[in-house]
Amino acid sequence: MPAEAAGRIEIVQGDITRLAVDAIVNAANGSLLGGGGVDGAIHRAAGPELLAECRTLGGAATGEAKITRGYRLPAGHVIHAVGPVWQGGGRGEPELLARCYRESLRLAGERSWRSIAFPAISTGAFGYPLEAATRVAVAEVRAGLARWPGLERAVFCVFSDEARRAYQRELGAPRGA
Ligand code: ADP
Repeated sequence: MPAEAAGRIEIVQGDITRLAVDAIVNAANGSLLGGGGVDGAIHRAAGPELLAECRTLGGAATGEAKITRGYRLPAGHVIHAVGPVWQGGGRGEPELLARCYRESLRLAGERSWRSIAFPAISTGAFGYPLEAATRVAVAEVRAGLARWPGLERAVFCVFSDEARRAYQRELGAPRGA
């Protein structure tokens, strides 16, 4: 791992709504009005004030990210990022997924936040193949940590054993391999 990211990236297996970080990232849909999967879990844990704030945001485009407060979550904020729906890979999905990570890291970095946690965006209902999504996620988080030195901690929060293994493999792999 490049020196700038060494020791700043970790994998946590479990529920992202339990993490006490400056921001958790939500794998939202374009309406930003809640959904299933991690999005539903975040809204349930944060309480109805989160939906009320989301209603003021006017949705978001794929690849875009918008911030709200965290309300009843232990996390201070939620960054709602809209991942791409997998359509075979030829519709710009890798770049759109990369943008979610890049934008989320930028929003956190610009605010001098020190910690951020990501779910495996797009790999659930949106159908993005796990290995390919993991490559994008790890590459962008490494680049983002190099760009934003104030970010001390980036967590990949995984639900399944399969996702944990995919991140372990990718993080263990030499850069560019
Ligand atoms: P998308 O619509 O972007 O695919 P999903 O919420 O369906 O989003 O799934 C994204 C990933 O989040 C999946 O890998 C899923 O297993 C995982 N996930 C679901 N609930 C949680 C949770 N509470 N904490 C962390 N990860 C979760």
